[in-house]
Order: sequence, then C-alpha cells, then structure tokens
Amino acid sequence: MLKSLLIANRGEIACRIIRTARKLGIRTVAVYSDADAKALHVRQADEAVHIGPSPARESYLVGEKIIAAATATGAEAIHPGYGFLSENADFAQAVIDAGLLWVGPNPSSIRAMGLKDAAKERMIAAGVPVTPGYLGEDQAPERLAAEAAKVGYPVLIKAVAGGGGKGMRRVDDPADFADALLSCQREATSSFGNSQVLIEKYILSPRHIEVQVFGDTHGNVVHLFERDCSLQRRHQKVIEEAPAPGMDEATREAICAAAVKAAKAVDYVGAGTIEFIADASEGLRADRIWFMEMNTRLQVEHPVTEEITGQDLVEWQLRVASGEPLPRQQDELWIRGWAMEARLYAEDPAAGFLPSIGKLESFSLPYNLRIETGVDEGAAISPFYDPMIAKIIAHGATREGARDALATGCTEVKVRPVKTNAEFLARILAMPAFAEVRLDTGFIDRYLDSLVTRGEPDARLLSAGAIAILAHPDNSLMEQPLLSGAGRREWIAQSSTQWNPLFGFRLNRPAKRIVRLAVDDQPTDIDLDQTGPVEPEIYEFEGGGIWVQARSGLAPRFVSRLVSTGPRAAGAAADGAILSPMPGRIIAVEVSAGDSVTKGQKLVTLEAMKMEHSLIAPFDGTVAELNAETGGQVSEGTVLARIERAE
Ligand code: ADP
Ligand code: ADP
Ligand code: MG
Repeated sequence: MLKSLLIANRGEIACRIIRTARKLGIRTVAVYSDADAKALHVRQADEAVHIGPSPARESYLVGEKIIAAATATGAEAIHPGYGFLSENADFAQAVIDAGLLWVGPNPSSIRAMGLKDAAKERMIAAGVPVTPGYLGEDQAPERLAAEAAKVGYPVLIKAVAGGGGKGMRRVDDPADFADALLSCQREATSSFGNSQVLIEKYILSPRHIEVQVFGDTHGNVVHLFERDCSLQRRHQKVIEEAPAPGMDEATREAICAAAVKAAKAVDYVGAGTIEFIADASEGLRADRIWFMEMNTRLQVEHPVTEEITGQDLVEWQLRVASGEPLPRQQDELWIRGWAMEARLYAEDPAAGFLPSIGKLESFSLPYNLRIETGVDEGAAISPFYDPMIAKIIAHGATREGARDALATGCTEVKVRPVKTNAEFLARILAMPAFAEVRLDTGFIDRYLDSLVTRGEPDARLLSAGAIAILAHPDNSLMEQPLLSGAGRREWIAQSSTQWNPLFGFRLNRPAKRIVRLAVDDQPTDIDLDQTGPVEPEIYEFEGGGIWVQARSGLAPRFVSRLVSTGPRAAGAAADGAILSPMPGRIIAVEVSAGDSVTKGQKLVTLEAMKMEHSLIAPFDGTVAELNAETGGQVSEGTVLARIERAE
C-alpha cells in the first residue's frame, strides 16, 4: 500500500480523500490557491503546498506545479479527485512519467473515452448499445442537418468534447437546427476548444441511469450497481439515488453487464462510471437503455453507492493504485437498503440559481446524516470555483426511509447569509411525483415555478421571531424603532419581564405594531400582533438573530436586526445600469451600442462558477453604453451596459 498521497483538488472531494487516506495510515499532502489558504482541506492534510493564485487556470489546473509539489514533499502518488485535471490524459501521463503513482485509469483509457464520438464508436464495436445518432467527421452544417433529419426529431446536438452539462442543444423543429448548431458550436469552442459535434436522438421521458464500475491491474472488472441521477437542472445533477427505482433484477443485470463490457473494452483500471440514458416512458426496460458516455474518474455522487454496498470507493482506488487486486469480487457485492444524496449549492434558486458568494457566518448541517463538505463556519464561498458547498446523504432500509430522512435533513440546513438551494431540495424531495417515481430529467423544469418561489413565511412565525429578538437582552443595540404603535422601550417593558416573548405580550395590546427587521437578510415589515399559538420549531439565538421554523418543514428563516446587506448589485439598477452580479467571464454580447432593446431582451451572457447568467434589459430603451467584450473578465459590480429608457 502506498504511504503518501498528494490530492490535486480542493473542497469536499479533497476532504473526502484525506479521510480515507488517514484511515489507511497514508500521509496526505494538500495543494491550495490563494483563495484556499485557510480552507478545510488544507487544515486537514498533513502538509500543504501553495500552488498559485485563485483562478483554477493558474493553480489547480497547472499540472507542472502539482507534480512539482508532489516531488518536493516526497508524495508517492497523486489523486486528482473529480473535475480539474481528473480526466486529463496528458496530466495522467506526466504524473506517471515523473515516477509517481496515478490514482486513476491508464491515460489510454481516458483518451479512449475522452471524446463522446470516439467513445461511442468504441462501444458500438464492443457490442454495447448506444443512443442512435450521427458520429461522423463531416461537420458541414448541411450534412449535420441532413443527418438530424435521418435520426428523426427531436434531436440533441452535443459537443464531442463536452462535459458538465455544457455544449448541448435540444432541437425539436428542423427550422431551428441551424441556429442551435451555431450556438452549440460557439459554446463548444469557448468551453472546450473543440467545435466538433455529434447528433443524437433526443430520448423522450429520459432517465439518467449510470453504473459504477471498478477495474484493477490484474484484469478484474466489477460493477457496484446503478445510480439514478435523473433529477437535473441544465443537465447538471441535483439529487441522486441508488439503486434506481423501478429497476427489476433482469434489467439491472443487463445494464450492469453492459457497463462491465464497456469498461473491459478500454482495459479499465480504477473507479469509473458508465452513463446510460433510458427511455422510461414504459418503465425501465433493458432494450431501451443506451450508453451515453463514460466518466473516467470517481463521481461526485459516489457516496450513494458506498452507502448501499458498504464499500469505501476511495479506499478501493488507493488499493488498486497500489497494485492490489479489487477488495471484492462480483459475487461478494450486493445492495443493502436505499441511499439518496442532495447537492447543496451556494445559490439562489429564486434568482435563476445565481451563485451566492460571501462568508458563511453561520453554517450548520443536519447532524444525523452523512455530510461531505469542504467548508466550515467562517469560510468564504469564493467566485472562483464550483458553488457546491456540501452533499447530504441519507441511507435507509427503503427508498421511502431514505427520502424522508433526506427531506428532513434539507429543512435543517442553516446557512447564512450565503443563499442555498436547501429549500428547493426539500421541496423536490417532498413532492408526491418524486415519491411516486414519476420522474425523468425534465422533472425540475416541469415543476420549477413551484420549486423556486419562496413562499411567504408564516406571519405568526415571523412575529414570534421578532418578539424574541426585540425582547432579548443582547439586543440593547437594537436600532430599528417600531414603525408604528408603541415605542420599543415601552413595548419591551410591557411584553416580558420574564424572558418569554410569546407570553404576556397580548395582554393589553394597543394599535397595530409593525417592526422592520431582516428575514433571511431581506428587509421585512413584521406585524407583531400576529402572535398565535404557533411555536417555532427551532429557536436559537445567534449573533443578534434567531432561526425560526414552521412545522411545514420548509427550511428555517433567519430573523435578525436590519443590517446593511452590502452591494448585492444583481442585474440592473434603476438608472438602467447593467452591473455584473459577480466576477466572471463574458461569453456573449447580444447587442451593440445604439441598439433599441425591449424589456427582458438578453444583453450579455456572463459565465461564473461554471454557470451561465443572462443579463437582460430592465425596460424598453436603447443601449446607451456598452462595456462588455466577449472573452473579457469582469469583476463584481462592473457596469457592463447602460440602457436609456425609451420616452
Ligand atoms: P458527476 O458526473 O461526477 O456527477 P457532474 O457531472 O455534476 O459530476 O459535474 C460536472 C463536472 O464538474 C465534473 O467533471 C465534475 O468533476 C466537476 N465538478 C463538479 N463539482 C465539482 C467541485 N465541487 N469541484 C470541482 N469540480 C467539480
Ligand atoms: P456531460 O458530459 O455534460 O455529462 P452527457 O452526455 O452525460 O453530458 O449528458 C448530460 C445529460 O444530458 C444527461 O444526464 C441527460 O440528462 C441529458 N441527455 C444526454 N443525452 C441525451 C439524449 N440523447 N436524450 C435525452 N437527454 C439526454
Ligand atoms: Mg455526463
């Protein structure tokens, strides 16, 4: 077994790898950028090496710096985690050439699966069913359009070098094909430096089913069953589970066997995932599940597989990299219970999932579920990396048990002031359609409105929270006067001498009393007379505020004194200035100076934290000023354009 390991990654996956390495007595070396100097993975590792400035391109993606760090610290091996350099065959080769162990497949396997078209060719040759489509070299638009017609609409145009849900366009109508092709090629070029595309039949009622495979250097390949990752937004996974609901034993055997065949076809060593797309219009059927791509690395959602198999996949990776045979053979692996994972993102679902950056003043996650995270209280979510802040994983004897535990867990997430998708996750998990497995990859989009609109918090709940705050002795600095009704001093005197704000307050109430406080950091007028018999479920003080939660089970709200919320310049100011809401890169400028625009028209597309954000015209007018250039980097609050209101 190897004795020392450098982890070429950050965040939760770096922490995850360190945990297993420690269990196995392996010395760990972390690498970090400027932004991560105090990050959890740096503190958890035995040693840490600074590798450069915050942007990943200048640190986590610079192979030479990482190899130099391994050499300097005497690390024997490099684990790439996922993302970053994990599927970079040249890096894997460079690691091997430097005399280090690469915790991953052979560079040739990575190459074979690296481009979606070549991978599909290879799978066809190996006898693995693939999604019907066109994989040809000829990229002339007319030829592609003709092939799309042959495949039959709807089709999906996919960048062969794509990943992370990018570089894909669904086309339903032949008339839209040319435009979709252009925009797909543009994204493919800017994101992957390769404009080549393939055409695939767009599968209706699609479910994303994938199989965990593992190979070793002795020629063994096993599978560790399937996961269902159909809950996606923008082709990115949000909730994953294992096993796949509705999968019968025969179908499972068929697709797991296909996955093993696929891995063997590329002499696979280490952890990998074969992704399939299933036409689930009539349930899961072996003849309606097709190979989509292979991810030649550990997968973000590997914990659900670990939970149902009782195996530590990172341990498997380290043993295999050390030359040991697979810890278990196929007949020693079985499914135990059900596991479900939710990805907690620092983002605001109500604002189009805009990433939310800043310091985690408070950060508390459910204590009775498995948590994978790379941050702790006081850490900052920076604009430089993926906005995923934690994975919450529940395991139960049944799907219902796992779902229920995870739903409850998501309602217990308390993160502030950074916004998260916790409530969004909780709502998905609570939906009857999800519980009843009426799901496909369109699920989230279909229910988006009801999933993202933030319901009005219960007035009585807010009132109870407000009273608690006003009456609390720590709040002597309370600046906000009551907007109407009694003065604060008088009010506190009459409401509670003994500290129970819900008590005694209603005895002799005067006129309506409204107080302005912050609810989840948004200024909110709260009617203090809405006290009813509701008792908040969570009730604890924290830095001048209080968490309150209704029994409805939605995520708790934080009621606090009104503080300046800072320059959260999201989008357009009243004067028509279009500000960049966060640091990022301009990937498209849709207008020119002097153009007339209509309200809602797309002006500029910004890419930040692996997501695209469209900035739109706040009203009808003309583009009076334009400071955005495709490819340009912008900081938060930059005025990208100014729209002059039409007379
Ligand atoms: P997976 O296929 O493993 O579930 P996704 O497809 O959701 O992962 O992620 C898209 C890409 O972004 C993957 O290549 C993954 O490795 C990378 N990625 C996702 N989350 C992170 C993160 N927190 N840090 C670094 N890379 C990430
Ligand atoms: P990436 O490399 O970005 O992960 P994938 O090829 O794995 O790209 O596709 C990502 C997602 O897009 C899938 O999980 C699925 O939701 C959807 N998708 C891909 N191919 C198809 C298809 N042929 N029909 C319907 N949906 C598809
Ligand atoms: Mg994929």
